[in-house]
Amino acid sequence: MKTLVYMGPKDVRLMSRPKPEIQNDEVLIKVRYCGICGSDMTMYSGKHSRIRPGTVMGHEFVGEVAETKASKKTDLEIGDHVVAEPTFNCHNCFYCKTGRYNLCDDLQFCGRDVNGGFAEFVKVQLDKVIKLSKSCDFKKMALTEPLAVAVSVVNKCKLKVGDTAVVLGGGPIGLLVAQVLHYSGASSVIVSEINEYRLQKAREMGFVVVNPNEEDLKSRVQNFNKVGADIVIDCVGHPSSIDIAFKLVRKGGLISIVALYHDKVPVDLLQIVYSEIDLKGTFIYTYNDFRTAKDLLEKKLIDVEPFITAVYSLEDAAKAFERIYKGAGGLKTLINVS
Ligand SMILES: [Zn+2]
Ligand SMILES: [Zn+2]
Repeated sequence: MKTLVYMGPKDVRLMSRPKPEIQNDEVLIKVRYCGICGSDMTMYSGKHSRIRPGTVMGHEFVGEVAETKASKKTDLEIGDHVVAEPTFNCHNCFYCKTGRYNLCDDLQFCGRDVNGGFAEFVKVQLDKVIKLSKSCDFKKMALTEPLAVAVSVVNKCKLKVGDTAVVLGGGPIGLLVAQVLHYSGASSVIVSEINEYRLQKAREMGFVVVNPNEEDLKSRVQNFNKVGADIVIDCVGHPSSIDIAFKLVRKGGLISIVALYHDKVPVDLLQIVYSEIDLKGTFIYTYNDFRTAKDLLEKKLIDVEPFITAVYSLEDAAKAFERIYKGAGGLKTLINVS
């Protein structure tokens, strides 16, 4: 089968590989679309410590059931349209047994630790597969995984109806988080971003947008809530962004970190005590976030059409990576696998 393989920094290649063989309680998915994620670009740029050369990349895939091996009863049938959580967990450690399997001691991520979805076929764990409707729009459903991240973030941030929320960073995750915040009842969602293309996208989606290089972000936030933001979500991960988050959040508010910080950043912990700030990290999702994301898309409660800004064939996937790396990537690029 055709695959896109990570061979080293800025080197991804179309290669032929044998079709994956599934074990018990695994499903083989014939991939239709697979999105390129920010984390794929981190790997591509050579800044990710875990990916090994020779790994098939891709974790935002959607497709059809090609084969199943189930030890228990399953309603999955060959040809079913499906999306799947792209992780393998051990089912045995403390975290798996207590339902927080995103924190599994032996978590393996498709497209990083095990072969992923930029391939004609990908294998996943049976209990990670979610059925889609027969009439689903595969392109839009390919955004289930990043939307599940956004759902997981918002589910953990104690949002109350009417809250003022600030999203730092208007990339795909930032704007999906903004969409979920809006859907969940935030009265004002303010997106801070410096890239003009992304600012325009956020504006078109109906959010309040601020370019902090041109305007005073704090006073813009105070126009919506004099005491500051109830929630600040950091989707940037720049050393300055956590500082900005502390300046914007009100006392007793919450800062949620989704961005992956690759460097250590000094934080004034005194503020956490004196102002009773909650600091919350979110790492991917579990079943309920994923199922909710799928429902939001299928029921058209969140429209991801404006996110899909480019579609490439698997043959041209390396060009897509190159283009995004050069900064011309738009929001979300999908690879049309088959
Ligand atoms: Zn992703
Ligand atoms: Zn585990």
